[in-house]
Amino acid sequence: MSETPEIQMVDLTGQYQRLKSPIDEAMARVLMSGRYINGPEVRSFSEALSEYLGVKHVIPCGNGTDALQAALMALNLNPGDEVITTSFSFIATVEVIALLGLKPVLVDVDPDTYNIDPELVREAVTPRTKAVIPVHLFGQSAAMEDIMLIAREYGLNVIEDAAQSLGADYKLNGSRQMLGTIGDIGCTSFFPTKNLGCFGDGGACFTDDDALAEKLRMIVNHGAKKKYMNEIVGVNSRLDTLQAAVLNEKIKHLDDFVTRRRQAAAYYYEALKDLSFLQLPLQISQGEHSFNQFTIRVPDDRRDELKQYLSDSGIPGMVYYPSPLHKQPVFEDHGITNQSLPVSEMLCEQVLSLPLHTEMTEEQLEFITTKIRQFS
Ligand SMILES: *Cc1c(COP(=O)(O)O)cnc(C)c1O
Repeated sequence: MSETPEIQMVDLTGQYQRLKSPIDEAMARVLMSGRYINGPEVRSFSEALSEYLGVKHVIPCGNGTDALQAALMALNLNPGDEVITTSFSFIATVEVIALLGLKPVLVDVDPDTYNIDPELVREAVTPRTKAVIPVHLFGQSAAMEDIMLIAREYGLNVIEDAAQSLGADYKLNGSRQMLGTIGDIGCTSFFPTKNLGCFGDGGACFTDDDALAEKLRMIVNHGAKKKYMNEIVGVNSRLDTLQAAVLNEKIKHLDDFVTRRRQAAAYYYEALKDLSFLQLPLQISQGEHSFNQFTIRVPDDRRDELKQYLSDSGIPGMVYYPSPLHKQPVFEDHGITNQSLPVSEMLCEQVLSLPLHTEMTEEQLEFITTKIRQFS
C-alpha cells in the first residue's frame, strides 16, 4: 500500500470545510442581527426538525443532558420513584435520574445489539416504577415494540434517549417512525460528534403531546410561559441562536450524513465479515441503524491488544464504554453498585468503536480494514 492516510475517529473540520460557505453566511447573519438569544433561527430550526422527524413539537434546549432532565421534570414524578434504564450507556441518562432524587434501576442489555433487554425491563418493574428510558445506543433503535407494550401494561412513561440516533428509524406496528418520536418524550443532543452536530452544545426534546410540550417549554425557560411570570421551578437551558443557525444549514444534509455513515458501515461489514477474532454489531430488521458509532466486540481478552495494534498503525479506536454505569463510584450510595449485570460488564471488556464519520474515504476504509485483517 502507498502512503498511510491520516485517520481520525471523527472528522469535524472536514465536514465543516465541505459545507463552509452557507454555514459561515448563516453565522454572519446572526452576528449582524444582534439576536444572540432566542433569535428567529431557533424557531425555524425547531420547525425544520419537527418536520424532519414527523413530530408535533420540538423544544430546543442547551444540551442533551438538559433535554433528559427536562423530560423527567415534565412527568410529575415524586422523590424515590423508580426509573428503569440501561447500564451500558453514557452517564447522562442515569445522572439526571439521580440528580432529581429519583431512583435509577439499571438493567442489562442484549449482547448483540448492546441495547436494553425488554424482558429485563419487565422483570425490574415494581409498584414504584414510573418511567423507562431506552437509549438507542450507537445509533440503532432499542426494542421499542416490546418496550412500548410493557410500558402500556404497567402505565409507565417512556423517554427515548435519541442522543446518538437522530436520523435512524423503527417500524412500529408496520409504520415507520423516526427514533425519538415513539415514546412520550424523545431527547437528543447536538454535541459536535452526534449525527446532527453543532459547533458547541445543543439539545432538544420532542413530543406529540400538547400539554407535555407546553410544560417542557416552561421548564427550559425558568418555569415561565410569560416573561417574569414564573409558575414552576425550571432551569435556564437554551439553544443559542448561533448554534440554531448552524443546525438550520446542517439539517438539510442530515439524510446525507446518515447515508455516508451507513456506507462506511457497509464497507466494514463486507470487509470484516469472515474474521473470527471479532464480532460485528447486529443490525435489527425492524429499523435502520444510523451508525453514530461502529462498535465491534473483540472477545478472549484481545480488545486492548487490537486497539494498541491499530494505534501503532495510526488508526484510532475508542472504548465506549469502559465501565458499566452500575459500577461508577458516583452510584455507591444509590444501592446499585453491588448488583451484577454480566452482559454490560462483558461488553465493557470487549467493545471497540472504529473510526466512522461523514467524511470517510474508501482509501481510509481500505487501509483500516486491511490492517485489521492482518491482525492475528
Ligand atoms: C451525548 C449523549 C447524551 C448527552 O448529550 P450532551 O449534549 O452531551 O449533554 C446523553 N445520552 C447519550 C446516550 C449520549 O450519547
